[in-house]
Amino acid sequence: MADYNKMIPTPDKFTSKPYWDGAKEGKLMLPRCTTCNKVHFYPRVICPFCHSSDIEWFEASGEGYIHTFAVQTRGSGGWQDDAPFVTAYIDLKEGDRLFTVLRGVDPDKPQEIQIGAKCQIEWDEASDEISVPYWRVVE
Ligand SMILES: [Zn+2]
Repeated sequence: MADYNKMIPTPDKFTSKPYWDGAKEGKLMLPRCTTCNKVHFYPRVICPFCHSSDIEWFEASGEGYIHTFAVQTRGSGGWQDDAPFVTAYIDLKEGDRLFTVLRGVDPDKPQEIQIGAKCQIEWDEASDEISVPYWRVVE
């Protein structure tokens, strides 16, 4: 395990524990409403689309596409050591989108980062219990 110097999330047993349990095994687990069949992220106990509380978890592909991105030139909480870096919203293959730090791109050449570029999730072991996700451009 590398020295992880950033904030480490605390799983919530009502909403995010299945997500973090999957993360520890290198699996992207997503919540899906069994009433309207839509995927949502971040995890919630009530579907943000139809307000049903019938939520199931499934293992997603870990594939997505850049929706938008920004170059961060400053940071705090450990991120200052990584600046400049690129943050992005990723459109998940299965639906909805999430926020991430993007890898496999040059923050000094944002003109080369393509909206819609295919990305794959990867995990960093932040502690014995928590692995945190990053996304990497793969095309
Ligand atoms: Zn729903």
